[in-house]
Amino acid sequence: MKLYEFQGKRIFRENGIPVDAGKLLKLGQQIENISAPKVLKAQVLTGGRGKAGGIKIWDGLSDVSQIIENLFELKIKGESVGGILLQEMVEIQREFYLSITYKGTKATPVLIVSAAGGVEIEKIAQEDPEKIVAIPLNPLVGPSEYQVRYVAKKIGYENYRELKLLIDNVYKVFRKYDATLVEINPLAVTPDGLVAVDAKVNLDDKSEFRHKELFEGLLKEQLSLQKDDVKAATEEQDTITYVPLSGTVGLISDGAGTGMLTLDIIKDAGGEAANFCELGGTTNAEIMYKAMTMAMEKPGMDSLIVVLIGGFNRMDHMAEGIIKYRNDHGFKVPVFVRMCGTLEQVGKEMMKESDIPVFNDLQETVNHAVALVRRK
Ligand code: GDP
Ligand code: MN
Repeated sequence: MKLYEFQGKRIFRENGIPVDAGKLLKLGQQIENISAPKVLKAQVLTGGRGKAGGIKIWDGLSDVSQIIENLFELKIKGESVGGILLQEMVEIQREFYLSITYKGTKATPVLIVSAAGGVEIEKIAQEDPEKIVAIPLNPLVGPSEYQVRYVAKKIGYENYRELKLLIDNVYKVFRKYDATLVEINPLAVTPDGLVAVDAKVNLDDKSEFRHKELFEGLLKEQLSLQKDDVKAATEEQDTITYVPLSGTVGLISDGAGTGMLTLDIIKDAGGEAANFCELGGTTNAEIMYKAMTMAMEKPGMDSLIVVLIGGFNRMDHMAEGIIKYRNDHGFKVPVFVRMCGTLEQVGKEMMKESDIPVFNDLQETVNHAVALVRRK
């Protein structure tokens, strides 16, 4: 489960990581008595908000409610803005990157640090890999003194004690909440020391049974921010059944039985469904298009599976809906379509002409979608 920045920051604050947890503004909420300058941050589950215009600084000269209104109208990589985090402006002297995640090949947590923070770590990894240090951590011991001293030296940060305390607390969060990623980018050097200016926390869905209340609370909070789009879409088209879930693999199916089967296969393959969208009733291209719109709205999705078994349902119509959606909006995540049954050949031909791959085998389709999630 991916958390919003404000959720991650709340966890940071509760665990001694220096952060301004800020104040969350929901749509339609009035703001009172605020003084400039402030940083306003769109809350979405995808990264790269800064570049997409999702972070604004209010200097007191312009109308802050106008900035808020504009932010709420933004779509960031297809995702609506659920809320806005209102923060004190901090003076940033330097920006580091710091995270703890699992590295499959080492089967252990790794601490990743870079002096070139602020920008996307993937970019640094490609262009200047020597600027990143990745240190495998002993899971029984956690970050050791010598490892943190090495990091401090590498990034040129003098206050070793402060850095050690911060890294210890990041590791504490990583373990205590069964996270798969805790990322601070940027970790800012300010006149008051280190501050986590951004927070990205992903929790392991498989650990839900250990944190029932936590997961429930976080998910409820997320849905309360997202519901409007999804609700509106559901009310508009009542043959579509839409169920938001907390994983990362989206699912559209043209029948409930196939959908349930696919949910099981996703789970067996090691994935977790992000949502379940069943077309239901008699379908046509327009309904397929709507289902694509609803499913794609879900934040935190890494891939989308579309399972179609044509009975009454015509594959040329389904292909038409998918292709039109792609042409209008593009795919914000990779889409894996399994198509068979009525007018299968026509549908497949249309998909081929539009360069959208189609699979024959359900297991294979799911494997592709889940493998993609696991690489993240
Ligand atoms: P992201 O683009 O989604 O990763 O959002 P971030 O929270 O990382 O913010 C992007 C950039 O905005 C940061 O790297 C900072 O340079 C800038 N920024 C965010 N908050 C502040 C702040 O309080 N003060 C200053 N000066 N810059 C900020
Ligand atoms: Mn960031």
